[in-house]
Amino acid sequence: MTSINAVTRQIAALEISSKPNTNAAKSTAAAHQKKPSQGQNVSKLLSKFAAPNPFPAGHSKAASSSTIPTKHGRPASPTKPTPAAPAQPAPTPAPSQQTIDIGRYDGGFEIDNENRGEKVYGEAAEELALDSSIARYRPTREWHLTDFDIGRPLGKGKFGRVYMVRTKVEPHYILALKCLYKSEIVQSRVEKQIRREIEIQQNLRHPHVLRLYGYFHDEKRIFLMIEFAGKGELYKQLTKHGCFSEKRSARYIDQMADALMYLHAKHVIHRDIKPENLLLGINGELKIGDFGWSVHAPGNRRKTLCGTLDYLPPEMVEGKEHDDKVDLWALGVLTYEFIVGSPPFEDLTGHNATYKRIARVDLKIPSKVSPEAKDLIVKLLQYEPEKRIALSEVRKHPWIVMHRSKGGSTATRAS
Ligand code: ATP
Ligand code: MG
Repeated sequence: MTSINAVTRQIAALEISSKPNTNAAKSTAAAHQKKPSQGQNVSKLLSKFAAPNPFPAGHSKAASSSTIPTKHGRPASPTKPTPAAPAQPAPTPAPSQQTIDIGRYDGGFEIDNENRGEKVYGEAAEELALDSSIARYRPTREWHLTDFDIGRPLGKGKFGRVYMVRTKVEPHYILALKCLYKSEIVQSRVEKQIRREIEIQQNLRHPHVLRLYGYFHDEKRIFLMIEFAGKGELYKQLTKHGCFSEKRSARYIDQMADALMYLHAKHVIHRDIKPENLLLGINGELKIGDFGWSVHAPGNRRKTLCGTLDYLPPEMVEGKEHDDKVDLWALGVLTYEFIVGSPPFEDLTGHNATYKRIARVDLKIPSKVSPEAKDLIVKLLQYEPEKRIALSEVRKHPWIVMHRSKGGSTATRAS
């Protein structure tokens, strides 16, 4: 346990350098700079890329995972002269990590790989030749699929499956491993978007932002090593319950505001906040995932229309320039949807009707909503971006404060 805590502390202490890392162009170039892998120190590797175990000790059951055969997991890395030697497991494995039940693997990665995707060549291949483990400054060992015990499927994304996995090396970190098929990314013409998503997410460290620990690739696929969100999708919870209590809603909104303050300070605008893009950690804490539409835009006002209709602010619906205030509007929509069960400007007669309702700020708040919650919703859903309540004020708003439990947002437990 000591070693896990030590590594967890190291991860928490990792600083994000605002200089090289916030410069997308620079980091893109750096990520492509292939250096030969060297034998490395496992603890260094883990402190750099692995996840802290989200499970408290004592939650363990017998493991029933299977391991991927080596032949399926060999990434093509022609520039690498000598494959790195597999790390030697330490003599005393951490039992609470190793015995966590990661569920039964259904062979999905191999099944997909036989029937799906093609090799990608040329410029697109360069764009997608992602490998964080061939480090920029300090070369480290490259991750392979064979470095993980693969467990239960967590879900299917647009470009591939997501599995619960555990590193074979000590201290057997639990992660989500997300597979993306390169040829499908190229067909959808989202190479740059995916790169951006990865570059943004890997530089973020916040308790309410899903961590991206690293990534590696083979000829057909990219694998993302993501923090495991133990309680799954928030959207599923919302569907199951219809809506949330104000207490639960306020705690989530507090956590969202906390995360958005962090993102905006780093000049990252999320632009696609909605329940589908939020996951829940093992303690029910909210985690922002999916940075597909985020943009790193210091001093930049953007005009692209993106995001889901129900959460779009008037300035985007009207094709105007927009800035980080778009996330404040979305936070207002989210607050409403949590409490009421559906988004405020939803119009089932079609997109145009929804557009019009958004542009008019045609907001009708049901009487069951408390005056405090209503006050916050109205202050967030302002037509003029500048008039929207600031995130620091959201966190001090009476509705948030009255529902905040001791210990602040990160210690909250959704019930
Ligand atoms: P979509 O467009 O359907 O959202 P996507 O490519 O963005 O696809 P994800 O949403 O990231 O894919 O992943 C698909 C599903 O896998 C999620 O809905 C979720 O249920 C599960 N999942 C993804 N990442 C994690 C994670 N880190 N921890 C737990 N479950 C996860
Ligand atoms: Mg998604």
